[in-house]
Amino acid sequence: MKRLWAPWRMDYILAPHDDECIFCEALKNEGNRYTLVREELAFVIMNTFPYNNGHIMVAPTRHTGDVADLSDEEMLSLSRLVKKSLKVLQDTLKPDAFNIGMNLGRVAGAGIEDHLHIHIVPRWNGDTNFMPVISDTKIVSQSLDETYRVLKEGFDKVKS
Ligand SMILES: [Zn+2]
Repeated sequence: MKRLWAPWRMDYILAPHDDECIFCEALKNEGNRYTLVREELAFVIMNTFPYNNGHIMVAPTRHTGDVADLSDEEMLSLSRLVKKSLKVLQDTLKPDAFNIGMNLGRVAGAGIEDHLHIHIVPRWNGDTNFMPVISDTKIVSQSLDETYRVLKEGFDKVKS
C-alpha cells in the first residue's frame, strides 16, 4: 500500500483507544476543535478520519444508537442541521455532489454503532479517479485544521 501524506493519521495513532464514545467525548469537551455547531438536541462535528475533504457528521446530543428511539424533536433538529451543513459545504468547498447517510450496525460499516450519526461527504467530479472513497490511503487536499477553519466560518455566517 502506498503511503500518502496524511497528518490526521498521526492523531489517530496518538489517540487513546478506549471505549469512550467520541461524540459524547466531544460534547463534554467544550473546546473541542472539531465541533462545528452545537444545538440543544443535535450537533455537527468534523470526521477526523475523513473519506473525503469536508466529511462531516450530524449527530444527536443524546447517546443513542436506535433511530426508533429518537423523538420527533430530535429528528427535526438533525434534519435542520443536515440542511444547514449542505448549504455551508456548498458555499465554502463548492462540491459537485454529496453522499449522505447512516451506517446502522457494524456489518453495515458503522465505526461507532452506539451513537447515531449522519455522514455528509462532499464529492467532486473526478474525485474517485484518484481517491478511493473508502480506503486507508487517500489524498485529502486540505488538512483538517484548515478545513475546520473554513467550515466554522461558513456555519457562523449562515442564519438558522
Ligand atoms: Zn455517545
